[in-house]
Formats: sequence, structure tokens, C-alpha cells
Amino acid sequence: MVDLLSHLGGDLRRQLYDLAHAARIRTYGRAVYLRGLIEFSNICKQNCLYCGLRSGNKSLSRYRLLPEEILNCCREGYALGYRTFVLQSGEDDWYTTEKLVLLIAAVKQLFPDAALTLSIGERDDECYSRLYAAGADRFLLRHETASANLYRSFHPTMEYENRQDRLNALQRIGYQVGAGFMVGLPDQTAADLAEDLLYLQQLQPDMIGIGPFLPHRDTPLKDELPGTVEDTLDMIALARLMVPDALIPATTAMGTAHPNGRERALQAGANVLMPNLSPMAVRAKYMLYNNKICTGDESAQCRFCLEQRVKSAGFHVDMGRGDSLKHLSRSLQEH
Ligand code: SAH
Ligand code: SF4
Repeated sequence: MVDLLSHLGGDLRRQLYDLAHAARIRTYGRAVYLRGLIEFSNICKQNCLYCGLRSGNKSLSRYRLLPEEILNCCREGYALGYRTFVLQSGEDDWYTTEKLVLLIAAVKQLFPDAALTLSIGERDDECYSRLYAAGADRFLLRHETASANLYRSFHPTMEYENRQDRLNALQRIGYQVGAGFMVGLPDQTAADLAEDLLYLQQLQPDMIGIGPFLPHRDTPLKDELPGTVEDTLDMIALARLMVPDALIPATTAMGTAHPNGRERALQAGANVLMPNLSPMAVRAKYMLYNNKICTGDESAQCRFCLEQRVKSAGFHVDMGRGDSLKHLSRSLQEH
């Protein structure tokens, strides 16, 4: 794997993207699934060195949407056709298990045919179980990097072993689980990226989020170089080949790194987009990295802008729930 990564370029790269594209056509065809993303709190108790929401960033204006405001975002999203909502936040303990259970139950009661995805960071088994019992279907928790050394250097408040243990717990409980990593972190080597891919192959997650590292000006990594679109495309394509039936988003970070980054990701194996459904007033405050795109567009604009981009890349939008094929085959076996 390290050898392959060190020799990618020109023809080999094109062949890799073509193989990944073919694998995606075999599994999911030309469908691209849309997920409405609601960034409901930028308050975070963790201090990841790369992230603009880290607790050490005192210059960020913090916000938290109330449950009723989140439900309103879902209402708007449902009317626009979304059948998956992703609730994402920093690690904000104001949102206790009890509050989250009520919120999840309310979303599922209002929109029983929509899937609900959480991306709220690390919690204990009991919390994850109760949120699942309340109706949450999926959970995104990137492993961030499979290298213990890198993980430890970027996460002063978190444990390497714990991250992977949380992913195992989520799988055990029954969630459709999303792992993933950043490409181009400072000091990341081809061997580290190979570890990321092998970790994914072993975990066999339902979803895989891969994006370039992008520096944020109010973090310790402000002067570091960003990850490149090309390196990230390589990882997306390899992830598609190693976990062929995974759902793989063309991430907002890809669109930020290059104007056509998301379209290129779709052509290298990605098959999901996550347009923003957050209220306009808070968009610019959910700043994981600088120059984040789509902070100035209304939700409806995002929806139709992305549909155009999907068409121009040679695919079509599928507004269904878009469960992972892994999950569907697990369900068939159980019944
Ligand atoms: N707090 C939750 C979810 C919000 S952060 C969590 O950490 O799981 C969502 C993702 O944003 C993280 O998993 C990380 O991979 C990504 N991210 C954060 N800062 C970033 C940066 N500077 N560049 C690229 N991606 C970043
Ligand atoms: Fe918090 Fe997630 Fe950012 Fe880490 S990556 S500081 S956990 S929001």
C-alpha cells in the first residue's frame, strides 16, 4: 500500500479513479444521496489542534440551537425533499442524553420516513444506546487518523484507544456507523494513510468521510500547509475499492479546497453530498476551518446548487433515505 501511494500519478491515478468509479456504479449506480446537515452547536469541550471549534479558541462567537429551532430546520429540509437529517455539533454537554432523546423522538415522530444521523462526538455506551432506542439510525464519528502517534499529537483531551472503542460500541449497538480521516495533516506519511485505509477495511463501516486537512487561523496549526485535492481523491478512490458498499460523501472540505473538488470526488468513488440546512444566522460560526463554502447560501439554494453540480458531474440526485447496502444486507439476514 505504501509503495502504491508513493507511486500514484498520471496514468496510474486515472486508472485508480476509473476502477473506483466502476466499483461505485456496481454498488450504487449513478445515484448521489443528499443529507441535510444541521450544525446545531459550535460549543465544544475538546481541544483538537486542527479544529476552529476547539475549546482553546476564545475568539469564536459560540451558539447553540434550541430543540425547537432544530425541528424547524428539519421542517424546512423535509419540505425541500431531504429524507436524512444529520445533526452535528461540538462536544456540548448542555445537550444531555435526556434532551437528545426528546429531540430525536420529536424528529422521528414528525418525520417517520426520514433517517436521523448523529455526529456529536464521544459519549458512553449508555448514552449511545438510549439515543439509538429513541430512534437515531446512524452515527458519524471519524477515527481522524489511525496512527497512534499522530492521534496523540493532535488530541490533547482525547485517547487514541477510546476513539476506536467508541466506534466499536456504535457498531455493536446497531447504528449504521461512519468513520473517516483527514488527509494532509502535518507530519502525516504514506504509511499513516495506509494505516487509515487498512483500519477502514478491518472496521467495514457503513459510511466513510474523508477530507483534506484545512488550517484555521485561530488554531495552533494555522501556519501548516493544507492537504491537497489530489491526495484526498486517491484516498476516496482507495476507500471505495476497499469498502465497495460504503456510502462516501464528497465533503464540504473538498469543495473548499477546490471549486470542483466535490464533483471530482463524485467521479472518484464518492456518492453522497451533505448540503447545509443550518439557519443562515449561525452558518459562519460553524467554522471548522477557514473559507468554508456555502455559508452564505439559503438552504433552498444549497439544495438546487448541488443538484446542478451532481448533474454536471454525470450523476443524478436520489432523495431517498439512502441506507447503506451493508445495512440492508444485515437487515435481510436478521429477518
Ligand atoms: N465534534 C464532532 C463532530 C464535529 S467535527 C467530532 O469531532 O466528531 C466534524 C469533523 O470535522 C471532524 O471529525 C474532523 O475530521 C473535521 N475537521 C475539524 N477540523 C478540521 C479542519 N481544520 N480541516 C478539515 N477537517 C476538519
Ligand atoms: Fe470539538 Fe469535534 Fe472540533 Fe474536536 S473536531 S474540537 S471534538 S468539534
